[in-house]
Amino acid sequence: MTYQHILDACGLTAAETTGGTLSVTTPVDGSEIARVPMHSVADAEAAIAKGVEAFEAWRKVPAPRRGELVRLLGEELRREKENLGRLVSLECGKIYQEGLGEVQEMIDICDFAVGLSRQLYGLTIASERPGHSMRETWHPLGVCGIITAFNFPAAPWCWNAALALVCGDPVIAKPSEKTPLTQLAIQKICDRAMAAFGGDAPEGLIQTLIGERDLGEVLTASRDVALISATGSVPMGKAVAADMSKRLGKTILELGGNNAMIVAPSADLEMAVRAIVFSAVGTAGQRCTSLRRLIVHEDIYDQLIPRLTKVYEGLSIGSPLEAGTLVGPLIDAGAMTAMEKALEQACAEGGTVHGGGRALTDQYPDAAYVAPAIVEMPAQSAIVHTETFAPILYAMKYTDLDAAIAMQNAVPQGLSSCIFSTDLRETEHFLSAQGSDCGIANVNIGPSGAEIGGAFGGEKETGGGRESGSDAWRAYMRRQTSTVNYSRELPLAQGISFEI
Ligand code: NAD
Repeated sequence: MTYQHILDACGLTAAETTGGTLSVTTPVDGSEIARVPMHSVADAEAAIAKGVEAFEAWRKVPAPRRGELVRLLGEELRREKENLGRLVSLECGKIYQEGLGEVQEMIDICDFAVGLSRQLYGLTIASERPGHSMRETWHPLGVCGIITAFNFPAAPWCWNAALALVCGDPVIAKPSEKTPLTQLAIQKICDRAMAAFGGDAPEGLIQTLIGERDLGEVLTASRDVALISATGSVPMGKAVAADMSKRLGKTILELGGNNAMIVAPSADLEMAVRAIVFSAVGTAGQRCTSLRRLIVHEDIYDQLIPRLTKVYEGLSIGSPLEAGTLVGPLIDAGAMTAMEKALEQACAEGGTVHGGGRALTDQYPDAAYVAPAIVEMPAQSAIVHTETFAPILYAMKYTDLDAAIAMQNAVPQGLSSCIFSTDLRETEHFLSAQGSDCGIANVNIGPSGAEIGGAFGGEKETGGGRESGSDAWRAYMRRQTSTVNYSRELPLAQGISFEI
């Protein structure tokens, strides 16, 4: 299948993919696959105005009926799973299986949101005053801006959009400038779902803005955008948070991770090896939840590290579109340079590197294929504290579990973490208040590959936001507390006497 066939299969037209100023290259071989027209700042402002109008209408539609739109979206996504999965793979370089996984996550969150549309529960609360009732209700919030990163061009939009839509909020997407085509294809799928839904889906309910950070900044600056959900790097999150704080706007921030695994002496090493390799080299180490730090008990370190280096030597690196490939390319040359610099710094800090280096340079001279690296570090030095968006796994030894947990928690990020151990005391300690400080803490599972049913997100510099399952929906609504007096008296709260 040619690249053009992949774009055509997603219904992308020549008007959308040619003649524009945004050059889109595929990481598969570094070639240009589209020149996409970009939206202007004025277009972004018009989109917000349309979103505000759509909100007026959409908030009146009953939530279960809003769920019907998301059900139809899920149906369309089921039909388009292979086409969209292949486009994800072509545009951001993750292997086709992971591209399909992203679309499956979209389908799963649609299913979740449909059920949720009948469960946007509030509370009734006991009033301290006689003849009074008190309740808490959740109402639609307003226009939601969804800013997303290159490495997950599909699923995070849907984690946000599916919930926002059932909660009564219009959505405006601002995908990464490196991966706009996937969002254009998703917009088409949404347009079809809206057409099937019929009259009460207002124009402007689901919109897409193609462009660079300046368009994101239009969204963060506008008081008409009630919520910004931003997925990306820590510097981006800090900039968004600063802009939003000027107007005290609501945010959901999903930022970088520096995720660790502790491997205890009782661990099942067969399982640990599989989990380590999938989570460290999957998506070529370009997941926010990628495994970056391996903290191994000294008694098993010399068994585990040689096994891992052997598996790394046999990994199939190649085109993400070909069956059998496990490691695709990095997004671009800049990412490869960042990896090279990190490995140099790690060596300067006393590290021993296994693997690393460019790969497939003859076959794909303009692409950024790399061999994943394991770096044995004498200590958790400066480079290990940073997130390098590439397949580098730093391995370190520990003696005492509390020291290992302290080491795990010592980095600025707090997204995902895990322990491999069959000792219940250790695993429960790891999950306790004195254990992992991350938003995600797993036992005998790697740090990546979360299910949509749980709330997804992390602490500290990861931003503190939560998306997807559990009660994450509340961030897309506003809470109202109402007290009703059905008595013939007017007693004041706290028994205050105020006679006039
Ligand atoms: P990035 O920060 O460079 O860009 C992300 C998005 O933010 C893009 O759409 C970009 O145009 C926009 N943007 C940048 N500056 C902005 C600003 N000041 N105002 C508004 N919008 C702005 O990130 P990236 O390189 O595309 O993605 C990689 C990063 O994303 C990694 O750090 C990774 O860990 C993180 N990430 C986090 C999660 C999560 O759920 N925690 C998921 C995926 C990726």
